[in-house]
Amino acid sequence: MKSSITPNQIKQNNRKLIYQYIYQKRKVSQQDIAYDLHLSRPTVATNISTLEQEGLIQKCGQIDTEYVGRKAAAYSIVSDFRISLGVEILKKEIKIIAVDLNGEKIGRTVYEIAYENSETYIQTVCDKIIQFKDTLSVTDEQILGIGFAMQALISPDKKTVLYGKILDCTGLSIHAFAKHLSYPCFFVHDAESAAISEMWISPELTDAFYLSISKHLGAAIICNGKILDGKHGHSSTIEHITMEPDGQMCYCGKKGCMETLCSLESLLTDSETLEDFFEHLHQEEVTYTSRWKRFLTDLARSINTLHLVYDTDFILGGYIAPFLTDKDLDFLHQEVCHMTPFPEANDFIQISKMPKHNIAIGAALPYIQEFLDTINGAVALSS
Ligand SMILES: [Zn+2]
Repeated sequence: MKSSITPNQIKQNNRKLIYQYIYQKRKVSQQDIAYDLHLSRPTVATNISTLEQEGLIQKCGQIDTEYVGRKAAAYSIVSDFRISLGVEILKKEIKIIAVDLNGEKIGRTVYEIAYENSETYIQTVCDKIIQFKDTLSVTDEQILGIGFAMQALISPDKKTVLYGKILDCTGLSIHAFAKHLSYPCFFVHDAESAAISEMWISPELTDAFYLSISKHLGAAIICNGKILDGKHGHSSTIEHITMEPDGQMCYCGKKGCMETLCSLESLLTDSETLEDFFEHLHQEEVTYTSRWKRFLTDLARSINTLHLVYDTDFILGGYIAPFLTDKDLDFLHQEVCHMTPFPEANDFIQISKMPKHNIAIGAALPYIQEFLDTINGAVALSS
């Protein structure tokens, strides 16, 4: 049967196109919209007027137009028309961030609350989220949802923790949090939320192996602009690949996993911070230089193993990212070249472009992305 587009669908499509164009360009005139989108001036004027009335866009001064040659009224999106929250659940603390429609931070806080598998803990976390929300001066309607980044594997429907050995939270349901909060909620694996942030900041990134090197090691595979979850939700759990069968004990109960070689827990001593370590390293103290060389060599071995499976760019993210240098990348490339059986290019290992707050922001971004893809918030508002 032949399907045809109804006038209402055309109207909705134009509205979405115009909003997304203003979003991308940040500040535009009606004339620029009409010319660039090949829409009539009256169509653009009607849509602009509706979007403005709904509160989705606003006038913001004047702008030189490319097509008229004089100043015209400029429009931009209302960046806090909708916002989203990201919560990073860690062993000793929770980090909460709020982002606007541009994915920019509009508030952030950290509470020292030690994780425990109890109703009291969940209630305390939810109370803190509400307390934080109240400092933002936003209405409930503005909040699209809350993403919870977990150091755990998450079910494909994002509702259940499949494997949470670090926090001992296996089996935890999103409902435990959602029942105290009046917003949609979902879980996301922390390495995945870090990769989501990376894709947001680098829209050209369509394929990559993202390694999150923080206290623990995690990874996410980006393929065709999407993150691979896998059949059962445990793709890219590379941290438990055995590298040394008689090596250090991993938290998973097995020995010599990649985690025991390439995480910060493996690099640093109990009382040491990353800042301490790199300060000694920059002073070229021998023990630190040799520890760093050992770490990078093990990281190169791990990258080589993964690169043999998936020939793509490797992005090094996590807490370690701001400390990595071009010299470290050269060393990694060189080591991988020595280990790989065939000639290898020196161009596939990169440092994350977004090392700060990436996990919490990445947990908030899927709601923002969904809103921008559909622009359904305003429809819901006006219905
Ligand atoms: Zn393991």
